[in-house]
Amino acid sequence: MHHRHSPAAVVLLCCGVGSAPAVAATSLDEAARAVAPRVIEWRRDLHQNPELGNREFRTSKLVAAHLESLGLEVRTGIAHTGVVGILKGGQPGPTIALRADMDALPVTERVDLPFKSTVTAEYRGERVGVMHACGHDGHTAILMGAAEVLAARRNQLPGTVLFIFQPAEEGAPEGEQGGAPLMLREGVFGDLKPEAIFGLHLWSAQNAGQIGYRRGSIMAAADSFRIVVNGRQTHGSTPWGGVDPIVAAAQIVTDMQTVVSRQTDITRWPAVVSIGAVKGGIRTNIIPDSVEMLGTLRTFDPAVRQSVIEKMRRVAEHVAAANGATATFEILPGSTPVLVNTPELTQRMLPSLERAAGQGNVVEIPFVTAAEDYAYFALEVPSLYFFVGSTPVGQDAATAPSNHSPFYVVDESSLDFGLRALVNVATDYLQGMQP
Ligand SMILES: [Zn+2]
Ligand SMILES: [Zn+2]
Repeated sequence: MHHRHSPAAVVLLCCGVGSAPAVAATSLDEAARAVAPRVIEWRRDLHQNPELGNREFRTSKLVAAHLESLGLEVRTGIAHTGVVGILKGGQPGPTIALRADMDALPVTERVDLPFKSTVTAEYRGERVGVMHACGHDGHTAILMGAAEVLAARRNQLPGTVLFIFQPAEEGAPEGEQGGAPLMLREGVFGDLKPEAIFGLHLWSAQNAGQIGYRRGSIMAAADSFRIVVNGRQTHGSTPWGGVDPIVAAAQIVTDMQTVVSRQTDITRWPAVVSIGAVKGGIRTNIIPDSVEMLGTLRTFDPAVRQSVIEKMRRVAEHVAAANGATATFEILPGSTPVLVNTPELTQRMLPSLERAAGQGNVVEIPFVTAAEDYAYFALEVPSLYFFVGSTPVGQDAATAPSNHSPFYVVDESSLDFGLRALVNVATDYLQGMQP
């Protein structure tokens, strides 16, 4: 599917460097609205041609060609398939970054759309469907549109904008590195460190037309953990002849829940401990040697994270010991830090979000227990990350198919809201607008 002549490619041919920009409109919103139909075209094209993390070859080519056509300095091959466009405005000013992620998921699409994905790929040794089930097709298209809107007014633009197109947000394939941390290690902020970064996510929990934000922690830190309970194998009829790791593991599973419910001040910071895999034993009458358990921990504050991890380790080791067994507890590599919105920056940009979505449509939302590797960028520079509602108006967002569902649907009007939010935020920041 990589050689298909895409609608986006057709569009690109007619707006190369030198041709009059289509968006010399008077207001930013008008300029954004003029690009919106092409954002929809790009997004449909990306949706029909999704690519897994670190394999965004076609997507990054499309992005790079578009940025080049706008006359931006373009850097490619960052963190495998990452692309960065650099727009230098005609006026002196600060440097900011806008970020979109480009990867799709190993999900077989079950939405009946004219541009439905039928793409398959190899994933963990299996042939799987590939779908933009998290809306990253929309993020990429929105950021391509934002680059076009801002490039068209570069002469008036004070400062520099980095357009960061990131691979592998959903995680790199096993044995590979990728995503935001790899982009940072490969120097994405090397010679042009922004003084602020902005990102957005389409999401099902709000209707199109709404924007969700939080000051401070917004998305969870995610840690994967493994517990191995070691006993001593024996016959199931004579458990006293060995040490039963299954009973110990069962007690660890239930006691692990008390770390949050009894030992953490949940009035200030919530936390989630979930065990998602319990593996041990082979047949009815053998008590096995060991049990392995895998799980995930979600927290919103680094100190709470540390304290919960210590308590989990204590529960695992001591409950095992009470049963005459031993246990090891480890945090697996690949943790994602909590995503924190800089409070002052968030406050400062709220009017820009309200201009895009309208008063009353910019909503302070609860903590989101999903994680986002954009958090690594936010550790480096002040940041604002917000959600753009994607569930069609009239449908209940609370029960709509969520991001990652094979039935996830993006209302295309949300692309226009996302685009206008992003260009308003960027322009207002560069122009030094205060609330
Ligand atoms: Zn996702
Ligand atoms: Zn996502």
